[in-house]
Amino acid sequence: MKNGKDLQNISINTLEDKVAYIHRVLQKLINYEVNVANYERKKFLHTYNQMLLQIGIVLSSIIIGILAILFYVFKSIQKDHTQLEIAAKKLKIANKKLENVSYTDSLTGLHNRRYFNFIYERELKRAKRNKSYITFMMLDIDYFKQYNDTYGHVEGDFALKSVAKVLKDTLKRPSDYVFRLGGEEFGVLLSDTDESSSAKLAREICDAVRGRELRHENSKAGEFVTISIGVVCCVADDALDDEILISRADEMLYEAKESGRDRYIITSNVSVATTKPIVEEKIA
Ligand code: GH3
Ligand code: MG
Ligand code: MG
Repeated sequence: MKNGKDLQNISINTLEDKVAYIHRVLQKLINYEVNVANYERKKFLHTYNQMLLQIGIVLSSIIIGILAILFYVFKSIQKDHTQLEIAAKKLKIANKKLENVSYTDSLTGLHNRRYFNFIYERELKRAKRNKSYITFMMLDIDYFKQYNDTYGHVEGDFALKSVAKVLKDTLKRPSDYVFRLGGEEFGVLLSDTDESSSAKLAREICDAVRGRELRHENSKAGEFVTISIGVVCCVADDALDDEILISRADEMLYEAKESGRDRYIITSNVSVATTKPIVEEKIA
């Protein structure tokens, strides 16, 4: 009986040992599985992170590439735009130069007849609108054919430049326009200048041309190069004929020539094309 009990105790102890052993083995197995799982998880996370990193690198590269292309395109457009702006500016300057050339008399640097046609129409319109004074002078060098014949064409050109300089130096207001209308004929257009001021300027021009003392031995008007001027000055209104200033100035110039040259004759009568001038003056 005692032996039976002992035997029973022994087998229980053995069983407990076995159970404990199995428990330890199972625990080890579980630990092993957990470790394996942890390892696999780490490996997966590592691979996953690597993949994310690679995708990140690829995406970043693509974005950087796109940004680089956009930057390049933007810079190209900007460069093209700048070049276009520079080209447009150059074109504008060239056009301006061309316009200046086409409006300038190459010998004297004065405005030419082409520009006169444009300015005359514009200034006349403005004077009519404002009902203000407008003055037109027609100037012509006296006995210039003889001057050329005596001193040659080069000296003749010099005399033309000299007269041009007198006109530029005498008429300095921005609204004063001086033209070489052709040959040895010049035109002057003044705004807001009354009769007495216009007459004073015409006299100054005659004096200054003579005062340059360009010897003209074959002139019947004096010993130096002189100029005759026909002047018309009036207050413009809508009734004023567009061509009357020119024809009246031409008539006054003719009168100045006829009455001895080296003088100006001024009129304010613009109602009839051929009448006697209102004011007539001889330069001594
Ligand atoms: P008047 O006193 O009546 O005006 O006589 P004029 O000899 O000045 O007039 P005319 O019209 O007979 O002669 C004008 C001269 O102007 C003829 C021409 O040789 C000269 N002329 C015209 N243009 C030029 C130019 O560009 N240079 C030079 N040197 N002479 C010119
Ligand atoms: Mg002439
Ligand atoms: Mg002449």
